Amino acid sequence: MADRTDFGDLDPEELRAALHRAADHIADYLSGGVESSPVLAQVEPGDLTAALPSRPPEQGEGMDALLDDYRCRIEPAVTHWNHPGFHAYFAISGSGPGVVAEALSAALNVNAMLWRSGPAATELEVLTCDWLRQMMGLPETFRGHINDTASSSTLVALAAARESLDADIRRRGAAGRDDLAPLVVYTSDQAHSSIDKAAIVLGLGTEGVRRIPSDAAFRMDPGLLAEAVAADRAAGRTPMAVVATTGTTSTSSIDPLPEIVETCRREQLWLHVDAAYGGAAAIVPELRPAFAGMEHGDSLVVNPHKWLFVPVDCSVLFVRDEDLLKRAFSLVPEYLKSDDGADTNLMDLGFQLGRRFRALKLWMVIRAFGVEGLARRIRHHCELARELAAEIEAAPGYELAAPVPLALVCFRATADDLVEQDRLNERLMAELNATGRFFLSHTRLDGRFTLRVAIGNIRTERRHLADLWQTIQQTSGALRAGNGPH
Ligand code: PLP
Repeated sequence: MADRTDFGDLDPEELRAALHRAADHIADYLSGGVESSPVLAQVEPGDLTAALPSRPPEQGEGMDALLDDYRCRIEPAVTHWNHPGFHAYFAISGSGPGVVAEALSAALNVNAMLWRSGPAATELEVLTCDWLRQMMGLPETFRGHINDTASSSTLVALAAARESLDADIRRRGAAGRDDLAPLVVYTSDQAHSSIDKAAIVLGLGTEGVRRIPSDAAFRMDPGLLAEAVAADRAAGRTPMAVVATTGTTSTSSIDPLPEIVETCRREQLWLHVDAAYGGAAAIVPELRPAFAGMEHGDSLVVNPHKWLFVPVDCSVLFVRDEDLLKRAFSLVPEYLKSDDGADTNLMDLGFQLGRRFRALKLWMVIRAFGVEGLARRIRHHCELARELAAEIEAAPGYELAAPVPLALVCFRATADDLVEQDRLNERLMAELNATGRFFLSHTRLDGRFTLRVAIGNIRTERRHLADLWQTIQQTSGALRAGNGPH
């Protein structure tokens, strides 16, 4: 036991014992414990807070006590994203190799602002992003770096798009300028809210975002995009960028990139591709054609923490012209000047200075599974989604609410009356989530409440989806018969 009154870190033997205990716990958790836990935490807001002391301990405690509390108090208040029945939002995986890499990077505690402050973190980031570029079939001109989330990556990409206008905004700002027309970004009515947030941060405002209507399959209508750009030009505004999505959040629809690319070329607009979710599927050879056109983007974001089995957080932003990022963001105070001749100092590529060693987990996951192994897992998820969709389509009393290009199934239990139908589906989702075996989230499509089954966790197997489909049928049957819990 370490002497808590001294000045140092944990006693090495106590650290070793705690790490061994944590390692055993993690291995047990991932290989079964997570599946036997209820996927949704069985707590109400405030329960955990009430169960923990409101004041910090005056004296240090032993690691055994902390690990006991972790198991008894913290873990029960966790919603288990690693559960095979997690189908909400987009299902993700903290896979074994990624967990090991996270532990090692925590031990190194590198802050890779500069090459000098993190040579391995910097070079591995450049290298693994280039591996990912090759895996996705993107051109050699794309250079990638890692951010925390797609929200940050899209913000950085749109800042580069703004810099490409050569309007001296970095120095003069954009507010109150007679010589600068309002800037406009175009995206579909299905695009993620992170695009609006980027517009808010960049000073375009939400009025600077045109939400282009999508077609019956929830893909941006390229004709309406061209019309909106022409209308803005005629009104004296400055179209700046288009954000196309390959794998939208509600339905996983893929915008028609070839037509969008044509408009961007003709109108000289920056094209940012939001492949945060769907981009991982581009590593599967037979799925790649669905993404044709993404190689013409000026920037593209893909989140390995969504569907490439890398633990949260890890978002890769590719840009065609990295110098634009530097023009937008590089700012080197005296204390960070270095003359080591390195090509890359990661702090130059975005708004944040410090960054952690995220490349290690991407590198370990790619090496542990191999490109073929990753593609096999993603292909399997798509197969499971197609199988579930086929069951739903064939069953009376249910309808698919959107096509299934990837591994997300949107569906509804049907009823004659649409208000009643919404109520039925809301209750169906609540009942499914109350079983502890599943967690589904919803969206609204064509005004109707719609359930989403996102398949993407590495532990989800065919038997889990068979259980889900059977439970959906039993539960909606009981609700329709009026026997369901009220
Ligand atoms: N883009 C798409 C298509 C998404 O589905 C999401 C989140 O699910 C995001 C962007 C934002 O992702 P992040 O949480 O990494 O910011």
